[in-house]
Amino acid sequence: MKHNGFNDVYHIEGGIIEYTRRAREQGLPVRFKGKNFVFDERMGERISDDILSSCHQCGEPCDSHTNCVNDGCHLLFIQCPSCAEKYQNCCSPICMEESTLTPEEQRSRRAGRENGNKVFNKSRGLLNMTMAIPAPEKK
Ligand SMILES: [Zn+2]
Ligand SMILES: [Zn+2]
Repeated sequence: MKHNGFNDVYHIEGGIIEYTRRAREQGLPVRFKGKNFVFDERMGERISDDILSSCHQCGEPCDSHTNCVNDGCHLLFIQCPSCAEKYQNCCSPICMEESTLTPEEQRSRRAGRENGNKVFNKSRGLLNMTMAIPAPEKK
C-alpha cells in the first residue's frame, strides 16, 4: 500500500500560511492567491488582495464567507456587505423569515423540508432551492 501521495497533499493544504510566510521572507513569488479559507472565527485569512469569487446573492466581486444565521440552515456561502444588510446575514428570504420564527415553528418547518428534499445534496440543494426564489421587493 502506498500512502505517500496523500500525505503530501495533506501537508501542503495545512501549510499555506507557513508557505506564504516563508516565500515572503525569501523574496519568492507567492503563488497562492486570494484567501486561505479556514473553518474558524476568522472565516478566511487574507493573503493577497485578489478577489477570486463573487457574492452568491448579487454577483458582485466578494470573498467574505458567511454562515447563514438561520439555525435550520447554517449554509456557508459568500455574501457581500450590502447583501448581508439586505438579508440580515441570511442566505435567502426564506431563511430571513425563518430566523424570526419561534423555535417550535422553526422545528416543524425544518421537518417538512427535510422530508421533501432528500434527493438533493444537502447544502447544494438548499442553496439552489432558496436562490431560485426572487427576493420580495419592498417599496
Ligand atoms: Zn451581494
Ligand atoms: Zn440559510
